[in-house]
Amino acid sequence: MKYDVLLKNGRVIDPLTGLDGKYDVGIRHGKIAAVSPSLPAVDADSVIDVEGYIVMPGVIDTHVHVSSEARWIGFSMMASVGVITAVDFGGPIQDTVKGLATNGCGMNIAGLHTVTPGRNTKDADPGVEELSEITDRALAHGAIGLKIVGGHSPATPEATARIIDVANRKGCYVAFHVGSTRHGSDIEGLREAVELAGNNHLHIAHVNSYCRGLHRAPAAEALEAVDLLRSHRNLVSESYLGTINGTSAHIKDGLPTSHVTRNCLRMGGYTPDEKGMGEAILGGWAFIQVVRGGKMELVTGEEGFRIWKDAETKTGVSFPVNDTTSMHILAIAKMKDGDEFVVDAISTDGGAIPRNVQLERGAALVRLGALTWPELVRKLTLNPARMFGFEHKGALAEGFDGDVTVVCPVTGHAYLGISRGQVIMIDGVVVGKGGHLLAATPEGALKAKEAGLTSQAVDLTKSLFFTRT
Ligand SMILES: [Zn+2]
Repeated sequence: MKYDVLLKNGRVIDPLTGLDGKYDVGIRHGKIAAVSPSLPAVDADSVIDVEGYIVMPGVIDTHVHVSSEARWIGFSMMASVGVITAVDFGGPIQDTVKGLATNGCGMNIAGLHTVTPGRNTKDADPGVEELSEITDRALAHGAIGLKIVGGHSPATPEATARIIDVANRKGCYVAFHVGSTRHGSDIEGLREAVELAGNNHLHIAHVNSYCRGLHRAPAAEALEAVDLLRSHRNLVSESYLGTINGTSAHIKDGLPTSHVTRNCLRMGGYTPDEKGMGEAILGGWAFIQVVRGGKMELVTGEEGFRIWKDAETKTGVSFPVNDTTSMHILAIAKMKDGDEFVVDAISTDGGAIPRNVQLERGAALVRLGALTWPELVRKLTLNPARMFGFEHKGALAEGFDGDVTVVCPVTGHAYLGISRGQVIMIDGVVVGKGGHLLAATPEGALKAKEAGLTSQAVDLTKSLFFTRT
């Protein structure tokens, strides 16, 4: 047979070749084998009629959380909405790999390793040597780079700049949830992040979250973020479209351990301490994250309060803090000349945090006329693949990985997910198993093999992260 799977009669949108029209897509041996106006059904083992649907490269989520065991549920949550590839922004990478092996749903995953000052470094001011060791270890275990969580657990500005520098020297990825011991997770933190990066390459995580109106009107903050990113193209970035955020509800010595959580309590008019947190849950401002029926749910009020207390405050929590205006400005802003987007990708910062809404809300933006389908597809597939150097992903051209998402053009509901030629999701039901690690080093790829996974090397030197100037 010429094709293992043949998708017939869909509207194929491929951001690489610019194709947008009625085509058939043939997949063989895990790769895209042919895209043509008509491929004979007799040439395929399995034929799926996708008339009325959009056929796009497999969705790549550039920022998710599936690393800790409590968050492995996130793999199926992502697969169920058509995500095929994702980059975990948490770690430790060993846990991400373990989760992929047991709960991976057939997805492709790359992982960053979080540097948490005081937890996996000696204090908030780690030196070059300590950071080098952490980086080498992370890469050897399968990570593609580092994540700095300044917003939650800040390092000094000097140490933050050192982390960025060490990663750049070692040729690995580095993403920053902005914030340091000097500035918070807000527009001032973003301004500082641009300075700390200097001429280094840096990924700015979830830009929308710094535009929640802590200093000025959210739209004004979003427009400043757009200006900053337009004038500093050594940065790559993503933003998301979910209303809620995701942070920690953990209280230590009467205070939330995360600085983001403290900000969220203030935004809701609560005191940033244990008492305020309790009141925020009871008052319906804070939503406790709890696993139920195979997915993460959000519970507020007395029930949420009880879950939080029973877990000795060690739960995740979400607040409805993301401003719609700034999310939309960041989703659609373009460079002044040309067709390039200012913020490279639409992400979710989801996975196990229940806001994997990139297709659903992306389709809503298309319905409003804010984006076209080809533009949305570009921000969900080709741009993400380029950011991370996933050379064979993000396009429906011959020879590319057989990763496909089939989606309803009206609702954004994902109908089919295909990962390296295997169907992993049908109409929201996840059927994929195992997973594929995208690692940056041969040692990392070996670790994946030991865990029973297949893997692939990522050439970061070709990534947009390293090549854009
Ligand atoms: Zn995140």
